[in-house]
Amino acid sequence: MSTIWVLGAGQLGAMLKQAATPLGLNVRPVDIESDEILNLASNDIVTAEREEWPTTKATEQLATHKNFVNLNTFPQLADRLTQKQWLDRLNLATAPWFPIKQDSSSEHCYSTLGERVLLKRRRGGYDGKGQFWLKQDEATEIPEDWKGHAIAEQAINFDEEVSLVGVRGKNGESYFYPLTLNLHINGILYASIAPLHRLNHLQSKAEAMLSKLMEALDYVGVMAMECFRLGDDLLINELAPRVHNSGHWTQAGASVNQFENHIRAVAGLPLAPAEVKNLSLMVNLIGVPVNYDWLSTEGIELYWYKKSVRPGRKVGHINMCSGDTTKLNKALTKLDAQLPEPYQEAIKWLKANLPE
Ligand code: AMP
Repeated sequence: MSTIWVLGAGQLGAMLKQAATPLGLNVRPVDIESDEILNLASNDIVTAEREEWPTTKATEQLATHKNFVNLNTFPQLADRLTQKQWLDRLNLATAPWFPIKQDSSSEHCYSTLGERVLLKRRRGGYDGKGQFWLKQDEATEIPEDWKGHAIAEQAINFDEEVSLVGVRGKNGESYFYPLTLNLHINGILYASIAPLHRLNHLQSKAEAMLSKLMEALDYVGVMAMECFRLGDDLLINELAPRVHNSGHWTQAGASVNQFENHIRAVAGLPLAPAEVKNLSLMVNLIGVPVNYDWLSTEGIELYWYKKSVRPGRKVGHINMCSGDTTKLNKALTKLDAQLPEPYQEAIKWLKANLPE
């Protein structure tokens, strides 16, 4: 049997492997710093849990394999400049933007995009890293070392943030999970909730947007599209050509989770719409030590990534799925007492978004 190699050995690689186990498939996440000579067979398949990587012994071996799915898509989406250019070419709405060049001035940013402008580094920014706010009232200047390496984006006064996770197979068929409502604090995802009846009317619009992209890129596997919702409009904030944190709830709330769907797609196995079981909540564990007392709450599913705990680092997540909102509410109250700040904000947000 062929092996599915995953470039990257973080939590996403581990969860891809976990999801493939019941299907009897061999999945091998590979640490990008590994010096190992990989025993790659010609009929093996290569995928990735990250959109960019340095050239190392491990990544070189994987990236030169003929069955690396979506190999050419990664560099195009990993660079915010080319990602935005793709969106513009396809006429998909994003925050107004332009590239920051060597001769760009903050005055130009303010006069074109408004008094608050978000600079984002073209590469390597995630979880709110690689962002820099230009504020006209504070006369903020563009940092010299950002010139040529960033894009400028208008500050969007969005109503809320939603994401769509979809999967596309080798023959072009695609399926989508329901829109997920997400809470970011300081640029990092803290909590998700899905599905929400009140977002249903945006589902087909979101699906059409992500479909257009996946088709244009001839993409295979799971892709996530993060959006700002302004009234009934969706602006694409960011695309991830991989399984995504805002799809983690599918482990509890869908018959086929995003990890299994990605594996099925890259392996050329049949895809089918996933059955969504009930309302799901996801709470990211960020910079907090593991507390197995969390397990004393009915319905909690803990994923602990076994990473060392550092401030701002994602070290696990908790999923819950139930049709009983009173029960979910109670579980959140219990969690609230077991988590430090700023979880109070995240828990309050989740409670406020529980349907009546
Ligand atoms: P990103 O790294 O692009 O995913 O951004 C992380 C978070 O920063 C987003 O989820 C938003 O909460 C916030 N953000 C990003 N871009 C903008 C923008 N143009 N205007 C306002 N907030 C933004």
